[in-house]
Amino acid sequence: MSPKTHAKAARRRVHPIVIVLILLLVLALVALVALRLVDWRGQRVEGTLTALVNPWNAVDVAGYRPTLTEVEGKQVDQSCAQPLTNMLGACRAAGHAPTLSVGYISREDLEKGTVKAQEAAEAGFSEHEIGLAVDILDQSGSDPASSGVAAWLRDNAWEYGFILRYPQGSEESTGMAYSPWHYRYVGEAAAAQIQQLGITLEEYVNMFYNDSAAVVFER
Ligand SMILES: [Zn+2]
Repeated sequence: MSPKTHAKAARRRVHPIVIVLILLLVLALVALVALRLVDWRGQRVEGTLTALVNPWNAVDVAGYRPTLTEVEGKQVDQSCAQPLTNMLGACRAAGHAPTLSVGYISREDLEKGTVKAQEAAEAGFSEHEIGLAVDILDQSGSDPASSGVAAWLRDNAWEYGFILRYPQGSEESTGMAYSPWHYRYVGEAAAAQIQQLGITLEEYVNMFYNDSAAVVFER
């Protein structure tokens, strides 16, 4: 082998460390896409209306950032403001007296305990931080589980895109105790499906892990 051909062969051989580095880079990108922290175009994925927040799924992982607006003196994400207004109006029209007790709660308020949800939720793991959850009580002050408001919401909230987020007997799935006052906005299509199937948001997200999966429901 002449010195010239030898040099050529060395140039063609890629250093093993470079190969390892490239492999690691590809693996990291695949992992990020798989975890949906970054979509394939390289942008950060914003959480969708079905963004899952529970004791195992932190608010920061869910990635939903609310744009706040006010409904009946409480802040909520703008995506659910009109449906919430409509739902409370329809509940009153049906002869009940709902009161919006809690909407959005900031991380800081949760940490300091200055604003509290009706249910015990840890800072960083509360749906109230994404502005898509509300606590609705009955002005009559009757038992939240059996009040007229609770019964009406249980039957009708789905039509406005809200679900009873922590139903009775679903503690293992949701990680939260039965909370008849706590409603979560997920959008009309998902709420209809969840109500029809009688499942939790956890079970729904498992069924339709892909956010872009079309949910078809005939009213
Ligand atoms: Zn709540």
